[in-house]
Amino acid sequence: MLSTIIYRSHLSDDVPVKTLEKLANQANCKNQSFDVTGILLFNGTHFLQLLEGPEEAVCAIYDRICADTRHHNLVELMRDFGPTRRFGRVGMELFDLRKYGRDSVLQAVLDKGTSKYQLTYNDRALQFLRTFVEARERENYFEIPSADLWDFIQEGKEEPEAAPLDEGTEDYCFAFQPIIDPFARQIVSYEALIRTVEGGSPDDYFAPLPREDVYKADLRSKASAFALARKLNIQQQSLSINLLPMSLVSEPDAVEFLLQQILANGLVPEQVVVEVTENDDLSRVEEFERAIRKLKAAGISFAIDDFGAGFAGLSLLSRFQPDRVKINRDIISDIHKNGPKQAIVLGIIKSCSSLEIAVIAVGVEKPEEWMWLEAAGISHFQGFLFARPRIKGLPAVAWPEPR
Ligand code: C2E
Ligand code: MN
Ligand code: MN
Repeated sequence: MLSTIIYRSHLSDDVPVKTLEKLANQANCKNQSFDVTGILLFNGTHFLQLLEGPEEAVCAIYDRICADTRHHNLVELMRDFGPTRRFGRVGMELFDLRKYGRDSVLQAVLDKGTSKYQLTYNDRALQFLRTFVEARERENYFEIPSADLWDFIQEGKEEPEAAPLDEGTEDYCFAFQPIIDPFARQIVSYEALIRTVEGGSPDDYFAPLPREDVYKADLRSKASAFALARKLNIQQQSLSINLLPMSLVSEPDAVEFLLQQILANGLVPEQVVVEVTENDDLSRVEEFERAIRKLKAAGISFAIDDFGAGFAGLSLLSRFQPDRVKINRDIISDIHKNGPKQAIVLGIIKSCSSLEIAVIAVGVEKPEEWMWLEAAGISHFQGFLFARPRIKGLPAVAWPEPR
């Protein structure tokens, strides 16, 4: 299948610009043998390259390009398929933008097109070339430093495991994972995550339950989350709990139950955040809205969890402005290399900033993901990079420190 990839990258400091001609000549031969076209734009610092050809060949060449140390901060912007080649002449063309006027370089690129009538500006690929030539979008190029500039250093010893709860009759327990602000070196909140007594996942716990028992079990379990949090001595620290929307709706007096348990465990409503996952079927929106109003009236905060993972993200945001939005790991993973994910997260940050909603990035595993997200303006993170969930305990945090 005919495939197109467009990426952007940054020339490495130790590569002399004058070697680029040679690089282009070598790539020209390579591309010819692979039946691939490369249109490479260079602005003195950044590259933008379009690769076009049979899918497997394009992917093979792109993989080599990704591994090339002569450039870094490579971001994939587009991967697309089409019926015909835009640029029929196989090989590689380098356009050094500093040698052209703005309009002439676009014309020069268009002149390389073989089926000219298709080279219209409606074409996404050409729009990417044009945007690069016009130096728009430059404010969204975050040059992130190499990951080995940071050490992640665990502070202090972990507290010993909390004593088992006195009740002891439950078939679940909770793990805690911190949400942190790395630069302020602050724990923003602890999230309570349900586990089976053997340490199994939330899915392991909920899946075997009969459908009609899930919501009751979900709601009731929060009593032990609060009790455990108290035992672990979280004090005034904020505590996040997860609930299915239907657990707030189908259980009578759900909010009253939560409030009563919060107070019974010496906590205050203002320190509790209820995280709701959007992709649960929300058929009773009006009742849900009423439950959220009650939560807020009682002082409990509300977060949309897994934002962007389901279909209801934006409509939920327009309907109920939460105190926090948590962006799911699906979007966070490898964000530093992925143009579409970057565009989405920048959009979320912009919307949430206009609405004064705090944004949390969940599932951060790599230093590069964290650095990109910091550069984009996020300051609250949850992920294995900093701390894994700890069963019946508060894990130590590995704080980043410059080397
Ligand atoms: P969530 O609320 O988005 O919680 C974060 C999940 O991501 C947790 O999985 C956590 O272990 C995982 N995680 C955190 N950092 C990383 C990371 O860097 N990499 C990776 N790969 N994963 C990371 P967990 O504990 O398995 O929970 C899964 C989901 O189950 C939760 O996602 C939440 O939606 C749901 N859940 C947890 N506890 C409850 C509960 O009490 N009630 C309900 N209804 N749902 C719950
Ligand atoms: Mn959650
Ligand atoms: Mn999630």
